[in-house]
Amino acid sequence: MLNEESKIGALIDRLANRAIWKLARARRRLETDVPLVSFTFDDVPDSALHDGAAILEKHGARGTFYIAGGLAGQVERDRTLITSEGCGELLARGHEIGCHTYSHRRIRDFGRLGGDLDRNADYLKSVGVSPPATNFAFPYNAAWPLARAELRRRYRTCRAGGEAINRGSVDPLMLRAVEIRQPEQDAWALTRWIDDVAAQPGWLIFFTHDIAPRPTPYGCTPKTFEHLVRYAVEKGCCVLPVDHALDRLNW
Ligand SMILES: [Zn+2]
Repeated sequence: MLNEESKIGALIDRLANRAIWKLARARRRLETDVPLVSFTFDDVPDSALHDGAAILEKHGARGTFYIAGGLAGQVERDRTLITSEGCGELLARGHEIGCHTYSHRRIRDFGRLGGDLDRNADYLKSVGVSPPATNFAFPYNAAWPLARAELRRRYRTCRAGGEAINRGSVDPLMLRAVEIRQPEQDAWALTRWIDDVAAQPGWLIFFTHDIAPRPTPYGCTPKTFEHLVRYAVEKGCCVLPVDHALDRLNW
């Protein structure tokens, strides 16, 4: 029964995302001569700080870390989420902190989404994120049409999944992103997306979770992550946090 429910839930998520991508009217032209690449992290495991952020910095780049305050310091079977100190460190090192809700639930499950987003803003404020985060990532990449007004009031962009490069007419409340995940050889081969954006400039957003020698299914090793960052830089891509990419696009 549970399995059936989760299958139906996944179907609802897919249909809602597709409907928004197809029908949303809030579109902007994305015009850039330079290929833009953003590396983003969701949740955020402490390995994304220790290895992910350090690798970006080594290549002169910074990332966007979408934090859900309710996960802070949580120890799970195969990962530990960053604490408020870790979050402050990311900020001090020039990375962008984005919002990923406080309680990390699907957007459509919230009775009062605004209250949860306020709570996360309070949490982020306590670690030094002031003014409030301007960019958001959907938990489980699951958007919801009825949440758009609330999200539009608060954020410049919202990021989902979608496995595509943002080009041409783009909905800022439904940015597309490419996942860096297991198996490792598939993650390694994601350079093809960088070749694609370098050949025809647009905005390629990657998302992942942990960067660890033995990653969860939703992350990759430091070696593969560095391979992707280095490749993007060598291909002449401008590697920027989401907020800086938006400034560059004049959005
Ligand atoms: Zn998440």
